[in-house]
Amino acid sequence: MGDIRFDGRVAIVTGAGVGLGRSHALGLAARGAKVVVNDLGVSRDGSGSTSEASEAVVAEIKAMGGEAIAHGCDVSDEDGVKDMVAQAMDTWGRIDICVNNAGILLDKTFGKMEMSAFRKVIDVHLIGSANVAHACWPIMREQKYGRIVFTSSGSGLYGNFGQSNYGAAKAAMMGLMNVLHIEGARDNIRVNTLAPTAATRMTEELFPPETAELLAPETITPGLLYLVSEDAPSHVILGAGAGSFAQTRVYETKGITLSDEDNTPETIAAQFNQITDPSNQVEMADAFAQTKKYALNAAQARGLKLDW
Ligand code: NAD
Repeated sequence: MGDIRFDGRVAIVTGAGVGLGRSHALGLAARGAKVVVNDLGVSRDGSGSTSEASEAVVAEIKAMGGEAIAHGCDVSDEDGVKDMVAQAMDTWGRIDICVNNAGILLDKTFGKMEMSAFRKVIDVHLIGSANVAHACWPIMREQKYGRIVFTSSGSGLYGNFGQSNYGAAKAAMMGLMNVLHIEGARDNIRVNTLAPTAATRMTEELFPPETAELLAPETITPGLLYLVSEDAPSHVILGAGAGSFAQTRVYETKGITLSDEDNTPETIAAQFNQITDPSNQVEMADAFAQTKKYALNAAQARGLKLDW
């Protein structure tokens, strides 16, 4: 297998001033990509704003002989994002790769959380990622080439105490990927989700120093680079951290089909073990596949023939 390279490719990486985004931007540039280093330069809770970090990453890329520009838009601001995409197009004339990485935390247990904090986190992670992907979308369709990654989290996929806003926003990445994967396929746009776990300022008090060293952002970037490469898969949720890589999948069990007479909460309670039995579980290609399965099951149970 040849080296994975990004020569001639243009990438936008959001939140690329520090942490994972910085590592991704440097990794892309080291393999030939021209990079828009986006960062609003906020602190972990989204407050303040400075362009220092993104400019430092641009300087690092230029020092290694690469090409990069900084853009300080807030990803949740649609006009700012459009301006960033316009600048990338003015500078390099195409956008091949879109890495949605910018993020903040406003943790509190659900009972103590103000809805303004819930909305803010959704705005940055979900609306921000959708803004950037949406602004890149017509360009990628026209080019018949695009690679998009959303950044999820174990918090969204599996849950984490005190992170209802963040967990909801991060689970939404999967929903956005599911649909864009389907809609983008005809134009060679591949869409994946990265679920990292890294020692960055976002997680700084969580790990002892020796664990933090293992969980360096640079251990995750190779996974991101594969997800945005020429031969990238699509519709993959890739867990990554400390050199471990694994896929998260959503399955549906085979389940049961009840007749109208049996369709009661009591029968469901009685057969819950069978409903949740994982043997023969499958991944659904799309939402319609589930509808089709249920309609066919019902028809079969009633001895009907469905012309599907
Ligand atoms: P970080 O705090 O080190 O970096 C986040 C960057 O995003 C900062 O540079 C910040 O200025 C920028 N940013 C924040 N809001 C922005 C906005 N509205 N517009 C533009 N830029 C903005 O965090 P990190 O740990 O490197 O996390 C990167 C991504 O990975 C985030 O989406 C985060 O939720 C996700 N993630 C991180 C971990 C982890 O263990 N660190 C785990 C799961 C998911």
